[in-house]
Amino acid sequence: MECGSAWVDMNADSEEEVEFDEDEDLLERNETSEQGLFDMVTTSSSAAPPPPPPAPSVQKRKRKVRKANTNVISVKLGTLTQDVAVATGDPVFCVKCQAALSAIDVAQMAAEGKDKEKGARVWHCSFCSTDNELNLDDEEMPGEESVDYILEPPNEAVSRGSSSSEKQLIFCIDISGSMCVTTEIEGKHELKGAEARKRLDSLNTERADQWAPREKRNVTYVSRLQSVQAAVDAQLAQMEQEQPSRRVGLVTFNGEVTVIGDGYQPPVTIAGDKLDDYDQLLQLGKSQSPGVPISKAKKALSTKLFALEETGPTALGPALLVCIGMASQNPGSEIVVCTDGLSNVGLGQLDDINTEEKKRASERFYEQIGDFAVLHGVTISIIGIKGQDCRMEQLGALSDKTNGGVNIVDPLRITQEFSSILSQPIIATNVGVKLILHKGLFVRAEDGEDEKERSTTKDSFITRDVGNVTTESAFAFEFGVRPIEEAKALGIDLELSALPFQLQIRYTKLDGMKCIRIISREQKATRDREQAELAANVDVLGLNAVQKSAKIAQKGEYTAARLENFTHTKLMRKVAMGSEDKKQKFVAWGSKQRVLETELKTVKAREMDEGLALSDDDEDDECNEEAAEEKVQQRKAKKAVKEQARKDRRGDETAKVLWSFRSKRK
Ligand SMILES: [Zn+2]
Repeated sequence: MECGSAWVDMNADSEEEVEFDEDEDLLERNETSEQGLFDMVTTSSSAAPPPPPPAPSVQKRKRKVRKANTNVISVKLGTLTQDVAVATGDPVFCVKCQAALSAIDVAQMAAEGKDKEKGARVWHCSFCSTDNELNLDDEEMPGEESVDYILEPPNEAVSRGSSSSEKQLIFCIDISGSMCVTTEIEGKHELKGAEARKRLDSLNTERADQWAPREKRNVTYVSRLQSVQAAVDAQLAQMEQEQPSRRVGLVTFNGEVTVIGDGYQPPVTIAGDKLDDYDQLLQLGKSQSPGVPISKAKKALSTKLFALEETGPTALGPALLVCIGMASQNPGSEIVVCTDGLSNVGLGQLDDINTEEKKRASERFYEQIGDFAVLHGVTISIIGIKGQDCRMEQLGALSDKTNGGVNIVDPLRITQEFSSILSQPIIATNVGVKLILHKGLFVRAEDGEDEKERSTTKDSFITRDVGNVTTESAFAFEFGVRPIEEAKALGIDLELSALPFQLQIRYTKLDGMKCIRIISREQKATRDREQAELAANVDVLGLNAVQKSAKIAQKGEYTAARLENFTHTKLMRKVAMGSEDKKQKFVAWGSKQRVLETELKTVKAREMDEGLALSDDDEDDECNEEAAEEKVQQRKAKKAVKEQARKDRRGDETAKVLWSFRSKRK
């Protein structure tokens, strides 16, 4: 748990009015000087190209935005690999707010002399002020900031370390016809595989889109499949060296699904009606887990890998289900899907789904297999190969749910993409997080949907199922301070010098041990915003800004997302002035954040060109609690229609940007 600043900013929310036009680059704007937001860095950074002159006679719009502040908490789940004190007994929770007794309370009780009281002691909850009865022995009192409680011991079979308990890595490879499309690379290269040599001889003359008008002597044509083969083989070699006991399997799909497994087991091919049978595909997967570790299987697997040839359609959905069946045998297993097209055979078809019914059926399929994967601690990463549509909006949801990676890459960059995905192994599964705040504070909705609601409707806690976590998993929450009048009415004292924060993380280790980690911390409070901003943590604020604006955009609110991006960038710029280190971080963050601004601007411009009536004007409607219920409902309905329409229309590139921005993998 890290905070956006060393100080809790106790000031009420403040708003500003932003006047803008659709074509403007909001991240270039800086009202306090003539500089753009990124101009403060005078190095040769490529982050800030000069903005084009504004187009004349564009109608300006005005929108009120709540100013971003430093009240952010980030949760870094990679810390679960660090051992902390293991407490004896069970955690003790406040009967009212479910906060756990912590070292802060113990210190408080000692300061008041209550720790020496005889009989039942009273624990005054620092979050909600409830008095709880406490019957704990002294040695059971938590004494440190982070404490682990063991809820269930490890699974015996796993802790005995039998080789079948090793987590699996399954490569799920598209070998449909389109995988033969080639990329030209400089120089003559000797390519591996029988098919490769055959292709070099023919130089692809039958493929119109690859036809070079005059023969080039010093180039090699590399197909998508060849790029994937080379990339997978590089991973196999690396695994053989670094994780020899890891079990690696190969599954391919075109019009059929073929389980090649570890290269030793006889291949199994699934075709026809079976590709529509959920239970059969899952069962088959479960019976086909690779049995031989990569240290023994590398050679056999490589041979089968390079023998692959591309032809036919794309049974991606059924292949994924088989892979999940295989991987579900061992928590912590990973599936990496490499595809260049739309799933169009068997379950989970994404091509040609022209009826509402078909669309829902395929959405349900991906939801179902995603839930199953999460339950069994399996992550799914999707690598789309640049060039064709693969409906990343849908597939990205699957990798988001299972905390896998998502990207669209050039065929020649697949090797790097594999390395980057596989460098973040799963460390725990079935993770659930609960953040508890002092009752004078409240948690804001992560998608910005509650901005127009009164703070009385907002809770001082939030729970979230995270599922699988990797070494890099991180996400953030924003919190607000209840207005003074409201706090008074609720009997809450906000004149505090410090406030408690607590994070409860339930998690299952890969050996099956179930634990709850409780992290409790006090943060000093200030009413001086400058003081809070001066002590800001740029990493925490940056993480929150990235994820929040992407979530708002995924709700279909492109303008609101851009304004959110704008107000966070302004705050980031201000707090980054404090030190050279913060400036550097801000610039690195800013150049990435521009990608989102640019993407959203482009999408909106395209909508306008196409004359779509997906206006963001309804965001301007003053729809506070005084507005008639009917009007509120109308607005909600309109938003829902817009959200769905924009989701349906979202192309692979935009979908990829949004999924990767909101991702917990950084
Ligand atoms: Zn309480």
